[in-house]
Amino acid sequence: MTDCCSVPSPSQLPQRCPGCGGGGRPVGAVTVQALARPGSVPVPSGPALRFCAVAACPVVYFGPGFRLDRQHLRVPVFQKEPAGDRIVCYCFGITESTLRREQAELGGSPSEERIRGEVRAGRCACEIENPQGTCCLGNVTLVLRAIAPTLVEGRK
Ligand SMILES: [Zn+2]
Repeated sequence: MTDCCSVPSPSQLPQRCPGCGGGGRPVGAVTVQALARPGSVPVPSGPALRFCAVAACPVVYFGPGFRLDRQHLRVPVFQKEPAGDRIVCYCFGITESTLRREQAELGGSPSEERIRGEVRAGRCACEIENPQGTCCLGNVTLVLRAIAPTLVEGRK
């Protein structure tokens, strides 16, 4: 007997987002546990959790037998909110409007400088503050590129 015709059990199938079918990015259980609203859904401690960054999808985290939608998080999710006044840096509470105001008034971005400095000094807590579980600087650059293309030109 071979098992060539057996159907893989659900736990062997690659995880897909139950909301949009996307693959998602791996995210630590510590992030999910920190951001899930108390009393929403029990968060598994396993390593197989993922973050869905698709804007139109209501699912933020998923894993085997687990799904957490955006209304069950204690913060809005940058990737899933309409552009305008999103929180960009969760650790230091910097929003799109902060970045836009600095750009208009100062022609630069002291907030971005500050975030870089804090990150260098190891004083950020992206793992438990930012729903994506990783540093916000990529998002900051994304927003700056939209509001002040010349400021970030030439950066990678
Ligand atoms: Zn999704």
